[in-house]
Amino acid sequence: MVAIRRVAGSRSARQGHEFYGCRLWPRSDCKFFIWKQQVDVMFYDGGNSNILKLKNKALEMKIANLEVEKMMLQEENKTLKNKQAFCNVMSTKSFVVALVTVLLAMYWYFASQ
Ligand SMILES: [Zn+2]
Repeated sequence: MVAIRRVAGSRSARQGHEFYGCRLWPRSDCKFFIWKQQVDVMFYDGGNSNILKLKNKALEMKIANLEVEKMMLQEENKTLKNKQAFCNVMSTKSFVVALVTVLLAMYWYFASQ
């Protein structure tokens, strides 16, 4: 079926609008009829939904990347917390060692008097 593009005439409520109709009209008519605007909307929406699918895929990949980044940051956070805990223990140890050293030095000083 080959349709022909025509312009609605003065008897139509949509005078001046383009439409696709049966190419054999008016000698014969298979009743094929569609406004050009409807076709344009269908094609426009088709293209648009493809773009949306691509955008959706891109967003899914972004989410996957962010999930990986989140896991890595959680791992890093855990490592940093362990390091911090280790540093706290070490500074307490250093303080005790310094205190004992001072006490020993004082003991040695006074004992030798
Ligand atoms: Zn036809």
